[in-house]
This record gives sequence, structure tokens and C-alpha cells, in this order.
Amino acid sequence: MAPLLEVRDLKKYFKTPSGYLHAVDKVSFSLETGKTLGVVGESGCGKSTLGRTILHLTEPTDGQIIFDGQDISTVSNRRFKELRREMQIVFQDPFSSLDPRSSVSQTIEEPLVIYHKEMDKEQRAKRVRELMDTVGLAQRLAGSYPHELDGGRRQRIGIARALALQPRFIVCDEPVSALDVSIQAQILNLMQDLQQEFGLTYMFITHDLSVVRHISDEICVMYLGQVVEKCPAKELFRANLHPYTKALLSAIPIPSIDVRRERILLKGEITSPINPKPGCRFAPRCSYACPVCFEKNPDLTEVRPQHMAACHRVEEINPNT
Ligand code: SF4
Repeated sequence: MAPLLEVRDLKKYFKTPSGYLHAVDKVSFSLETGKTLGVVGESGCGKSTLGRTILHLTEPTDGQIIFDGQDISTVSNRRFKELRREMQIVFQDPFSSLDPRSSVSQTIEEPLVIYHKEMDKEQRAKRVRELMDTVGLAQRLAGSYPHELDGGRRQRIGIARALALQPRFIVCDEPVSALDVSIQAQILNLMQDLQQEFGLTYMFITHDLSVVRHISDEICVMYLGQVVEKCPAKELFRANLHPYTKALLSAIPIPSIDVRRERILLKGEITSPINPKPGCRFAPRCSYACPVCFEKNPDLTEVRPQHMAACHRVEEINPNT
């Protein structure tokens, strides 16, 4: 099956007084319809910028974005306005992403007013009621304002608004990070149900590995703007290959006092993302680093079937995997 989204060598650099900040640097992946790609990494690794660049919320510096077979890397803003119907985003902080002066129904109705000029007021109101039902928002909340609602309900509004135009692809940018754990589970289950019902394709950005494990088919691990490991979700937790992924996974808390796991503590300076030096960007923090690591940036290559990693010493580090 042809992928719904294909990203090839995508770059997003920001100009700063000291040089170019390489926020996203030669990222490539493809994503099939109805699947979820999890994107994980520390704060500042470029995962949110990647999602926003794909949606043209910030213009790409270089590379290709192919959506449904069409190259949309350099389309005009007018053309992209049409594409917005198919490509939507759910933001991290449901409170700041909602207009405090708009009620629940007004917020969900807004995309319909902009994109469905053929709908009259009654048709829009009917559609808003359907969307509220779809995301589990009680009809009595239609006139409520964001400050009157809890975080879970606010995020349901964000999801309903994203669904209003019947998109095919949604970037979910840390959609549950600001929520309590019990509410997180409800929202994740809702998103999975909606994916099944509407055949949605998700790019799910998070720093929380437990969340990404729950929802993803495939996972990309990012470090300083680059993908360092990419494989099916189960494989990442069973047989991860890259030293950075190993350190990330070692930090996941285990909910048992009887089970202990050695935490890999990363020492050393974080490489500057502004005009980064040649070599592996993880080298100053990597306990396996050798001279070549400081000279040549490793390519992302297929090390095992469907399992890619960017590391010069991947075979030595994983002799039995
Ligand atoms: Fe570590 Fe070298 Fe592999 Fe980079 S290329 S992760 S520095 S061993």
C-alpha cells in the first residue's frame, strides 16, 4: 500500500545571531493510512518542530513532504489552506490552545464556518452536536467556556475541533502531557477508538515512552534534530539498538519495588544544535564513543529487518540482538 505521508530528508533550520539552529535535520520516514508513528525524544530534540513543519505551520528549509502522492513541500498558502481539511493538529496544552472567549460549541463550529460556507447555522449546530457526542462531551457543556472545564474536557474540545473537517492525518503534539494520569488513559483510549472508526493516521509526538508504547505502530527516536533509531514499537522495547534509546528506556519507572533496573545516566555536554560540529551529535554523552564518532555523523541504516539505527558501533554494542 502506498504511504499516506512520506517525508524525505526534511530540514528546518532557524537563523539565530550565532548561526543556524538545526532543529530538524534530514529526517525521513513514511506512514501508512490508519497507522500511528510515535516520535520520542527529550525536550528540544525537534519533534514538535518536525510536526509543525509537516503541517506548514513553519516553512521547511529543505526536503520533501509527500501527502497522498502529492509533493506539498512548496505549495502556496492558498493550496495549503485546502489541505488543512485533511491535515490537522491537536496541541499539548488544551487551555492555551483554546480561545477563552469562545464557548465549546463556538470553538468546534469555527472550522466549519471557515471551510464549509455551504452549511447554514442549523446544519453547523447539528454537526457540532455530533462531534461533541463523538468525543464524549455532554451536550449540556455546549455553552461552557474553557476555564469552566477540566483538562480532559478541554482536550476533548481540541480533538472535536480537529475532527470537524474530517481529516485523514492528525499531528498529536504531546496531547496528554498536561493531563492527570487517569485522564491521560481516557484520552488515549478515545484517540484509538476514533482512529479505528474514521481510519485516521496519527503522528504522535511525546517525551513519555510509556504513552508511545501504548499507541504507536512504529517509533522514531530523535536526538538533536535527527532520527537515531526507527522500528516497530514492540521491537523498540524488546531489542533497542542505539545507545541513546537505551538511556531513554532505562529512565522509564517500573511500578514495582521488587524489580530493579540499572539507570543509564548520561554525562557530558549536550552538543549545540547551532551549526553542529561534524560527527555523531550524541558523541559527547555516549560511553561507546570512539574517534570516528567525533569525525563522521552516522547515517540511519537498516541494521535488522525494519529496524534502523544511526550508530557507527551498533553491531559491537548489540552482539547478541
Ligand atoms: Fe555513540 Fe559513536 Fe554510536 Fe554515536 S556513533 S551513538 S557516539 S557509538
